[in-house]
Amino acid sequence: MTDTKPAGLTGGCHCGAIRYTLHDPPINHTLCHCRDCRRNAGAQMVGWAMYREQALDIEMGEVATYASSENARRHFCIQCGTGLFYTNAALIPGLVDIRSGTLDEPDLLPAQMQIQTEDRISWMEDVHLLPSCERYPNPKDL
Ligand SMILES: [Zn+2]
Ligand SMILES: [Zn+2]
Repeated sequence: MTDTKPAGLTGGCHCGAIRYTLHDPPINHTLCHCRDCRRNAGAQMVGWAMYREQALDIEMGEVATYASSENARRHFCIQCGTGLFYTNAALIPGLVDIRSGTLDEPDLLPAQMQIQTEDRISWMEDVHLLPSCERYPNPKDL
């Protein structure tokens, strides 16, 4: 079977100070609904693409680290605050999760699974049923 997952993806933080390249195909790509990710990102869910640590090449910028639990480390841009990477030497030794929303071309890496759905906000299950608007709507229409 041919592996069709892409290698050589690039990404970075919002301000552009941090740039990274991923040299291998990802191990998996999930959308996480856990409380920790939600609080840390300030978003209803967070996309994570998992790689071997050696596959991640941080080419530019200073990454700061926040210990979000005993073993979990969340790595972010010290200038703009964008969360980029997650490591956990106890849970996923030798691996790194990349926040897939920071990829330059996220369309190239479709998510494969939703995880930690026990923590999912109840209305997120049907979020695809909400009315859609291609651009930011006129505030009068909200
Ligand atoms: Zn930044
Ligand atoms: Zn999570």
